[in-house]
Amino acid sequence: MIDCLFCKIAQGEIPATLYYENKDIVVFDDINPQAPIHKLIIPREHIATLNDLQDHHQPLVGQMLQVASSIAKQLDIADVGYRLVSNCNAGAGQTVFHIHFHLLGGRPLHWPPG
Ligand code: AMP
Ligand code: ZN
Repeated sequence: MIDCLFCKIAQGEIPATLYYENKDIVVFDDINPQAPIHKLIIPREHIATLNDLQDHHQPLVGQMLQVASSIAKQLDIADVGYRLVSNCNAGAGQTVFHIHFHLLGGRPLHWPPG
């Protein structure tokens, strides 16, 4: 069995503040928020990095993006603007090796991100 923090959150073995879940996807609050709204959108399936995505994951990733967009509308940040980020591998800051999108909003977000 894979020893993975986000798999354990998805399976309810480690608590998190869940915001949304369905059979494929779980969304919860980031424990160290970088903005007033900082949610993590993860697949239930363990996929370590974006580099590990395969053709059959296309509907799953599409669904993750659609869920992010829906949540942004629900939280009233869709019009003002929000950011979706996915860090791939250590050089980009990935610390949990189970793919996820960060949904950030609720404050001005500058570019480049650094
Ligand atoms: P990344 O660094 O892009 O891999 O993002 C991992 C994110 O997971 C970071 O923003 C962490 O703050 C967050 N994180 C780590 N542990 C937990 C946890 N137990 N519950 C919620 N978020 C977490
Ligand atoms: Zn995992």
